[in-house]
Amino acid sequence: MRLSLEHSYAALPAGFCERVRPTPVALPGCALLNGALAAQLGWDPQVLEPAAAEIFSGNQLPEDADPIAMAYAGHQFGNFVPQLGDGRAILLGERRDRDGVLRDIQLKGAGRTRFSRGGDGRAALGPMLREYLISEAMQALGIPTTRSLAVVTTGERVLRDTGMLPGAVLTRVAASHVRVGTFEFFGARADHDGVRALLDYVIERHYPAACGAPVPALAVLEAVIECQAALIADWMRVGFIHGVMNTDNMTISGETIDYGPCAFMDTYDPKTVFSSIDRRGRYAYANQPAIAKWNLARLAEALLPLIDPEGERAVGLATEVLNRFDARADAHLLARMRRKIGLASDEDGDAVLVSRWLVCLQEGTVDFTLAFRALAAVSAGADAPREALRQLFPAQSPIDNWLADWQQRLQRDPRTPADRSADQRAANPAFIPRNHRVEAALQAASDHGDLRPFTKLLGILQHPYADQPEAAEYQRPPEAAERVLRTFCGT
Ligand code: AMP
Ligand code: MG
Repeated sequence: MRLSLEHSYAALPAGFCERVRPTPVALPGCALLNGALAAQLGWDPQVLEPAAAEIFSGNQLPEDADPIAMAYAGHQFGNFVPQLGDGRAILLGERRDRDGVLRDIQLKGAGRTRFSRGGDGRAALGPMLREYLISEAMQALGIPTTRSLAVVTTGERVLRDTGMLPGAVLTRVAASHVRVGTFEFFGARADHDGVRALLDYVIERHYPAACGAPVPALAVLEAVIECQAALIADWMRVGFIHGVMNTDNMTISGETIDYGPCAFMDTYDPKTVFSSIDRRGRYAYANQPAIAKWNLARLAEALLPLIDPEGERAVGLATEVLNRFDARADAHLLARMRRKIGLASDEDGDAVLVSRWLVCLQEGTVDFTLAFRALAAVSAGADAPREALRQLFPAQSPIDNWLADWQQRLQRDPRTPADRSADQRAANPAFIPRNHRVEAALQAASDHGDLRPFTKLLGILQHPYADQPEAAEYQRPPEAAERVLRTFCGT
């Protein structure tokens, strides 16, 4: 079978990747195939389906595949690791989608590569289903992300901390897999030709406008800063915590990548951490902008020789650009928060109004998603929704004062209550992948081979901004006994 693949990355110099074939699996079975995404990629889902298990397990290589594992480095929890690379992921090639955008087609869990170190090159079914579910939920929420095309079970078991687990391969689709850590790989080796070749690649694939800039490397840095500032603000507007914001898990394209121990928070607390390996809260909810900036500084370091041959001048120029990150991140977050509370206009006091609302949520341990969605209903003007919102907060909460100030502010905002409420509903999801639902769905699939809870949850999360009264139970935050406090990488 041919998939009409291109191979722009494989054409880069030898040090960029290893040519490696997927290791066949015992008994491939297609658990999930994303028909809408297949169609977006220009493939007929009906034609793809009969071959999906063979192709997306790596057992049958498409005739036009040129499979590679990409080299990269990265800072993991602040510590530099000069060589990471695709230890269990293999890029089959790139496919031009219906919009003319080149998309990487990568098998995750496809076997060992030169970069596997001690790992087995494999993936367990639970974490691959998790990535499929959350990445597709992010897509439906309107947040830039890698996508998931298929999950194929392998008929083999993998050994993990929790015992022998069913194995699987995920087919990941991405605007590219170039990471901050890919630049660091060449930067740390002082391989200027490598950095330059990678930069040229990134300009051609992602930032063609940087080509004509006076200093292309600086223009790319600026563009990545901008898209990452927007991305982190998007995460925060839905309460998403990535969990492992290592530099190898940050894309140059601005897509969310690597759904390991990520999670959505229920009650609002800026210090929320779920990842079992993030003991010091480095990647806590509210720390994400600061960490993104730290990661971007690592990108800037790798680019320095291309910014200016004179070291100090290069540092000065890069620092100036980096220092704009905070203002950009704040502006993106405030714009999203304004929209979430129903404002279409800008006033100086809005940031304070937003933070007072968030303080009410935090002090009252109120559910982040429910509160914003309830506020959208209050905007429509009736009394009942206001009472319903009030019920989310404890009796002593200062929320009534806040509501009064908010309502005064709305009077200076130029929309009808109906328009405002509708726009707020489009900005405040009713449904997020709540941890307790996700865990339950993964457990049913992984322990009992029952995909029904997973498919049901996936279906609901594909329309996060719709009311879906028949799925009301999925809006509910966890009861105390259902709460999931820790999430695991599962690698
Ligand atoms: P991650 O924590 O998933 O971002 O992965 C960090 C690094 O570990 C990457 O270089 C991965 O390719 C590698 N890795 C993770 N799991 C495995 C595995 N099971 N086998 C080989 N390499 C792995
Ligand atoms: Mg990773």
